[in-house]
Amino acid sequence: MEADYNIPLRVVALMNQKGGVGKTTTAVNLAAAAATLGLRTLLVDMDPQAHATLHLGVDPDALEHSVYSVLLDPDADPRQALATVEDNLSLLPAETDLAAAESELTSVPERHHRLHRVLQRLAPDFDLVLIDCPPSLGLLTLNALAAAREVLIPMQAHFLALQGVSKLLETVQLMTGSINPALRVRGVVLCMHENQTTHAQEVVADLDAFFEQQQDASLPWSGAKVFRPHIRRNIKLAESPSFGQSVFAYAPDAAGAKDYRDLAETIFATPPATTSTGTPPTGPEAEHAPVVHVRTTESAEHTAP
Ligand code: ADP
Ligand code: MG
Repeated sequence: MEADYNIPLRVVALMNQKGGVGKTTTAVNLAAAAATLGLRTLLVDMDPQAHATLHLGVDPDALEHSVYSVLLDPDADPRQALATVEDNLSLLPAETDLAAAESELTSVPERHHRLHRVLQRLAPDFDLVLIDCPPSLGLLTLNALAAAREVLIPMQAHFLALQGVSKLLETVQLMTGSINPALRVRGVVLCMHENQTTHAQEVVADLDAFFEQQQDASLPWSGAKVFRPHIRRNIKLAESPSFGQSVFAYAPDAAGAKDYRDLAETIFATPPATTSTGTPPTGPEAEHAPVVHVRTTESAEHTAP
């Protein structure tokens, strides 16, 4: 039996089933910020759209090895697929074939735990792993949630935000009941934030109040919060992907760089969520473990955020 990686390696999945909410922007720039804090950081691009890969200037169509090849070939050395993009920052890139991996994974053994195995092999080289998830709940996202200890939810503060959060918490609870009991939600990152609007302020107040009421230690999101600072809407964040750079390389003095730097200090200067459970179960039992069904709010069922 391979040794499990353990704290101090932190593995954080950025998840939201909705697209366009700021997942990739947050994954790339939080990873780049963590790297500047001195953490040996790995960004894993699990999205077949390869946006994080492109954002960091790596061409997904010119790769010999990628997250795709290492997920499907357990004997492949994942180090050969890594790209070093900045000091302390490595990328496990996606290639567009990753979409095919999703269907190929359905028929392999331990299909939920492929990324977990890959990260176990890379653990000695890193302090922090951030995983950019696709906007869906297929096997690629499940692999991310099986490999992670922590979940961050990037989202925007608008109508139905609370219902969207409830759905995502429900998904995490399903994971803790089956594939990964150690998984914990750390909190929400508000992206493209417009603090001056009354509507956004009301949504933030609702989200804050929601998490304050959810402190039951048995919940996988106890202690979760809406992180500060919120990430302001900032044009430099939208421009930097076309230059293949993080905002720190492209516009280090921009508001977007300041927000992500401050957020990285907030999140990564604090110890990770502690868990009473140990290693996520692996092997055939885990594949067939019962799934716990939960409702986090009465309204979750009626909304499609
Ligand atoms: P997701 O990965 O959830 O689909 P992205 O991170 O790709 O979302 O963001 C969607 C779009 O919004 C992208 O074009 C991105 O550049 C832009 N964007 C994200 N965050 C900001 C921000 N704070 N300010 C301005 N534009 C942003
Ligand atoms: Mg994305």
